Amino acid sequence: MTDVHGERSTRQPEHKYAITRDQYDAVLFDLDGVITDTAGVHAACWKQMFDEYLQKRARQTGEAFRPFDLAADYRLYVDGKPRFDGVRDFLRSRGIQLPEGSPGDSVEAETVGGLGNRKNDLVNKIIEEVGVEPYDGSVKLIRQLRHRGFKIAVVTSSQNCAAVLRAARLDAFFDIQIDGNVILAQHLAGKPAPDTFLLAAKLLGAEPSRAVVVEDALSGVQAGFNGKFGLVIGVARKGNADELRRHGAHVVVNDLSELVDRPTTRDLLEGQPDDE
Ligand SMILES: [Mg+2]
Repeated sequence: MTDVHGERSTRQPEHKYAITRDQYDAVLFDLDGVITDTAGVHAACWKQMFDEYLQKRARQTGEAFRPFDLAADYRLYVDGKPRFDGVRDFLRSRGIQLPEGSPGDSVEAETVGGLGNRKNDLVNKIIEEVGVEPYDGSVKLIRQLRHRGFKIAVVTSSQNCAAVLRAARLDAFFDIQIDGNVILAQHLAGKPAPDTFLLAAKLLGAEPSRAVVVEDALSGVQAGFNGKFGLVIGVARKGNADELRRHGAHVVVNDLSELVDRPTTRDLLEGQPDDE
């Protein structure tokens, strides 16, 4: 089939890894570090909270204070996981075991719940005071995918998802939102378990084999791999492409603009995705 300009209307992917409608029905995006520039905010808040705790603990026990490492500790133990899993897994890596407490614990409580909530307070404060920026390439890709009839979900461990999407003016973009509140309410296992992505695909009516997972966290690409999704795309903003591949990414990009096609003649005739 050709269009009025004699151009083949079967879209020829411009990139090696184009997300095409004949192969996939749905695209499931992680939030922090994939859509919005908030992974750094989370990492900084984790560090502030853990360092304050570790310093206090060092004073009490007489052990040396070893700060939270923004690069290694964040990637290996915390990134992408539900908040309380992150607290527990990092503390375990330092041989520390705290009582669980509960998700409603006050920020003063020396429990997994209390430490997690301290970190959450810090994040909310920054989102309110500084705001949130989405990545341009991610916005362009999502607009293009919507224009081409893909179902789109955001799948995040964050309980701040709604606030972040609102702050980034992206709240109308997604057919389905699976966030930290859904995880708690439905007792889902968090990433690296595939459950959150599988639920999103199910709610969108897409088979996992025809759904794409887009993730920047090691726990996230692992979840995509564990769920046997058709395509797992790692976003290597921290120069960790090899590590993402080792944890299950089929392909790795540095920024989602690498997946945006130049508009075809048909797109132009039907209206640019950016006009939506
Ligand atoms: Mg992320």
